[in-house]
Amino acid sequence: MLDFRSDTVTKPCNRMRKLMAEAPVGDDVYQDDPSVNDLEAWAADRHGFEAALFTASGTQANLLAILSHCERGDEYLCGQQAHNYKYEAGGAAVLGSVQPQPIENDKNGTLPFDKLAAAIKPEDLHFARTKLLSLENTIGGKVLPLEYLAKARQFVDQHNLLLHLDGARAYNAAVELRVDITEISKHFDSMTICLSKGLGAPVGSLLLGDTAFIARARRLRKMVGGGMRQAGILAVAGKMALTENVDRLAEDHSNARYLSEQLGAIPGFNTFIYPVQTNLVYADVADHIDIKAIANQLKEEGILFSPAHKCMRLVTHKDISREDIDTFLQRVESLVG
Ligand SMILES: *Cc1c(COP(=O)(O)O)cnc(C)c1O
Repeated sequence: MLDFRSDTVTKPCNRMRKLMAEAPVGDDVYQDDPSVNDLEAWAADRHGFEAALFTASGTQANLLAILSHCERGDEYLCGQQAHNYKYEAGGAAVLGSVQPQPIENDKNGTLPFDKLAAAIKPEDLHFARTKLLSLENTIGGKVLPLEYLAKARQFVDQHNLLLHLDGARAYNAAVELRVDITEISKHFDSMTICLSKGLGAPVGSLLLGDTAFIARARRLRKMVGGGMRQAGILAVAGKMALTENVDRLAEDHSNARYLSEQLGAIPGFNTFIYPVQTNLVYADVADHIDIKAIANQLKEEGILFSPAHKCMRLVTHKDISREDIDTFLQRVESLVG
C-alpha cells in the first residue's frame, strides 16, 4: 500500500511499538501517568513554555487553546485557509461561543497586517471583543518567514492581542528553515504540535503555554471528554516522535520536491505554479485527464492519493520512499500515456 493522501497515515515503527508496550503508566486524569508527565514537562521546556498538555488530536488542542484564551463573545483573527477556521467543524464557535474573524491569506500563507488591523473591532457594545490572532505554520505546506513571525509579535503587542500558533507541522517549518524550533515558538503565547503527522506517532498533539493557560485548558479538555487515563502508552510514542523523527523530515521535503518535478514533467500536470517548500505537493490537472478515474484505478492497485476538481494533492512522509514515488510516477505516466 502506497498512501499519498496525508502524513497522518504513518504507522508506528517496531521501536515505537516496543516503547509503547513497555511504557510506565498511571491515571492521567489524576496526573499520575509518569510517561504523560514526562512528555509534558519535557515538551514545555524544549519549546520554551511554562507548561504543556497532551491532547487526543490537533483539533482538540486548537479548540482548547482558543477557549482558554477567549471568553463567550470574544473573537479570534485567523486565515481564511486556517485549519482552525475551515477544517475543525466550527468548534470554537459551536462549543465556546467564540467567533472567528477570517482574513484572506496572502499567497505565501501570511495574513497582511493592514487587513488584520482593519478587522480589529473598536471597544463598542456593538462588536465582539477581538482577543487573539491565530497563525498556522506550515500552512498548505508553506513556511511562514521568521521575520513575519517577529512582526506578528510586534503587531499583537501593539494591539493588545494574544498570539497562538497552530503548529501542527511547525517542525516541517523549522527543518526547512534549518533553525531550532524555538526560533518559531518564541514569538507565541501558545502553540500546538501534531505528533501524529510526519513525526510518526499514532495519536496525539501537544498544547503549550503558560501555567495558568494550561490549567484552564486541562479543565476544558476534561469537559470535552478528552481526559484520558493510561495515556502514557501514547505519550512515549509522542516523545520518541519529537526526539527521533524530526531530522528525517528533510527527507520527506526532498522527496516532495522530486515528486513535484517529476510529476510536472508528465504532460497535463502543472506543478510549477505550486513550488514545494515542505512535504505537500499540489498539481493542476489538464481538462483531458480524468484524475478521478486515475485515482480509482490506482486505488485498486493499492496506491492512494487525493484527487479534486482538476487538481490533486500528494503528501510525502516516513512510509513513502523514493522508490515508492517512482512506482507512482510510472503508473500515472502509463495511465495518461
Ligand atoms: C492536521 C491538522 C490539525 C488537526 O489535527 P488532527 O490531529 O487531525 O485533529 C490542525 N491544524 C493543522 C494545520 C493540521 O494540518
